[in-house]
Amino acid sequence: MRKRKVLIVGGGSAGWMTAAYLNGALNKQGTEQNVLIELLESPDIPRILVGEATIPSMRHLLTVVGIDELEFMKATDATFKQSIKYCNCVQNDNSFYHHPFTSMRVQPIDRAGSDWLKSDRSIPFMETCSAQPIICEMGLAPLMLGKWDMGSHLNYAYHMNAQKFADYLRDFSTARGVVHRLANLTDIEMQGSDRIVAVTTDQQQRLTADLFVDCTGFKAKLIEEQLGVGFEDCSQWLLCDRAITMHLPYDKFYPGMVRPYTTATALSAGWIWDIPMQNQRSVGYVHSSQFISVEQAEQEMRAYQGPGTEHLKARVVDFKVGRRQGNWRGNCVAIGLSGGFIEPLESTGL
Ligand SMILES: Cc1cc2nc3c(=O)[nH]c(=O)nc-3n(C[C@H](O)[C@H](O)[C@H](O)COP(=O)(O)OP(=O)(O)OC[C@H]3O[C@@H](n4cnc5c(N)ncnc54)[C@H](O)[C@@H]3O)c2cc1C
Repeated sequence: MRKRKVLIVGGGSAGWMTAAYLNGALNKQGTEQNVLIELLESPDIPRILVGEATIPSMRHLLTVVGIDELEFMKATDATFKQSIKYCNCVQNDNSFYHHPFTSMRVQPIDRAGSDWLKSDRSIPFMETCSAQPIICEMGLAPLMLGKWDMGSHLNYAYHMNAQKFADYLRDFSTARGVVHRLANLTDIEMQGSDRIVAVTTDQQQRLTADLFVDCTGFKAKLIEEQLGVGFEDCSQWLLCDRAITMHLPYDKFYPGMVRPYTTATALSAGWIWDIPMQNQRSVGYVHSSQFISVEQAEQEMRAYQGPGTEHLKARVVDFKVGRRQGNWRGNCVAIGLSGGFIEPLESTGL
């Protein structure tokens, strides 16, 4: 019987996550070859290289793919993430609250909110429904190394280096049967209005498949440029459309501990992420270009850290917020930024 084939176009985090996941789920982590999986990546168009904080579903992905957690963490400079700490979001007074990944819900009806409202409110709400805010503030991990057991289970995700993450999934997947092609997509062959037959590349390849996955990022080469599926723009509600980012190495900018959470601090025209990895922190000021220039945003980002960052390079990332009108048309599925992007405040992209 002819084997079915999936062609993923795009080798950013979305492309390699798709390849690794499909290989894990359909090919039993590469021990079988039920479906041929191929990924086409441009050698010239860089990945977006943001997407360094995740949510707990990332652990499900690692399990399906068959990746050992410790290996993964070493290879990607990963740290544990147990919460998002929101600072200055209620008032500009250095107050904060945590959004932890574990909450002690009482079933069938969780009355934590109404009980707290009826109390004298001397204990912050977050501390009445989860141990994790305190654990985060103490700088503790959700797990012990080895066989130690901490008792109740704490849910967690990771922070990691985005470039190393995609590279690690690439190496892991190609060692288990995924075919990697480095070339630029030049043309798309169609049958009728919504069936892709093949894509051609600048290396004179013609790549056929049964299913095509568009992971070309904001370019949306297949789903939008070829198939014409529109984009529902959400910019009238979500005003941020640009980020300016920078990496702060720990040898100079170590905040005293590797924080086991992401920090999101409100600034004048948006908010700044502070994502700890093993060797450095990533900061990025997500802002609205209608309200602040790039230069002012850069100044505010550097002021957030304090003096000494002048020699560190900053990078500007423009983005559009909204979603694809449909993520599946004919034999093409859009995954990742080609399918849509909504504010990175909760780091839900990956
Ligand atoms: C400012 C910002 C902050 C973010 N923060 C987070 C976060 O903290 N957590 C989180 O989960 N997500 C975050 N995201 C989202 C996250 O970055 C993306 O979901 C993730 O990186 C996936 O991107 P992608 O693979 O779809 O696109 P890209 O990384 O842009 O990859 C596109 C790929 O397509 C290839 N390509 C393009 N054109 C062609 C062509 N013609 N031929 C061949 N290949 C081609 C490119 O070479 C590249 O490999 C953030 C996004 C933004 C904009």
